[in-house]
Amino acid sequence: MEHRIATIGSHSALQILKGAKDEGFGTIAVCEREKSWPYRRFKVADSIIELDRMSSFPETENELIKENAILIPHASFMNIMSIGQIENLKVPYFGNKSILKWESDRTLQREWLRKAGLTLPGIFKKPEDIDVPAIVKFHGAKGGKGFFLAKSGEEFHRKIEEHHGKTYIIQEYIVGAPIYIHYFHSPLDDELEVMSFDKRYESNVDSIGRIAAKDQLDMGLETSYNITGNVPMVIRESLLPQVFEMGEAVVEASRKIEGRGLIGPFSLETVITPELQFYVFEISARIVAGTNPYINGSPYTALRYKEPMSTGRRIAREIRQAIKDRELHKVLG
Ligand code: AMP
Repeated sequence: MEHRIATIGSHSALQILKGAKDEGFGTIAVCEREKSWPYRRFKVADSIIELDRMSSFPETENELIKENAILIPHASFMNIMSIGQIENLKVPYFGNKSILKWESDRTLQREWLRKAGLTLPGIFKKPEDIDVPAIVKFHGAKGGKGFFLAKSGEEFHRKIEEHHGKTYIIQEYIVGAPIYIHYFHSPLDDELEVMSFDKRYESNVDSIGRIAAKDQLDMGLETSYNITGNVPMVIRESLLPQVFEMGEAVVEASRKIEGRGLIGPFSLETVITPELQFYVFEISARIVAGTNPYINGSPYTALRYKEPMSTGRRIAREIRQAIKDRELHKVLG
């Protein structure tokens, strides 16, 4: 029986399922009832499994196994299931599950990026240490919701009050251009590809510039970083060598921390300073929603491929190749 590609209906599922169809796979979307219409209407899912609550996703396992499905993870998996639950899934899973804990624990993530020799924003161990602008981030905060800035311990204590009980980190705030880099690492031919770049459209920080500074102060505005969408972009071409170097270093370091290392798509979240120094403030070890503008390929995939190549399609192609070479084990978690 032919393999089918399955994913959870949210985040980058349209792209993943469309890419799978382009590579000749049948597709399955697992959706919360009432939320399945995009996958139906855009006709990317050959079948849809509807659940009352997404948290019961693990119960669909047997059905997915019967359908010979391969699961493609994206960020919603981590919101719906614990790492333990994901690790226990028996349905074939694209990517390396062992890397998940390195991604989800900010301390381990930092260790990984450090091993890769990347430049990272500083961390303040305690609020009293804040002596330059800092951004306060909450663990597991969906898309930057509630993050705030603080320039001193006093400001931190005032603003943290409404976030009682949450765990957080205090990171140096880097003033520059935020750029998200989308990579794909193929374990089959051991090649790192740069797929695309995006910048984010965050509420309210991306609209504050539309209000005069004086009015901002009068309104007592506080910035927030809640993601609402992604904007496509290209990077200054002379920065590309560094982009490749950083990606290679992260792949290399991933092998040191976790055997098989990174499999498939991953992303570095960076801020580039006016001195053109890349600061990496986060890594995502899977497909990111910033690849969604490129369902029809990006300027960079157009250089390398004759056909429109999204990251979703690239995943399906890797699986197709692995099946042909009888090396599926190399791309599955
Ligand atoms: P994150 O959830 O870590 O992707 O962060 C949400 C948003 O906060 C990012 O898209 C950036 O706009 C901003 N941000 C996060 N960390 C930093 C940093 N260290 N310096 C400057 N901006 C940051």
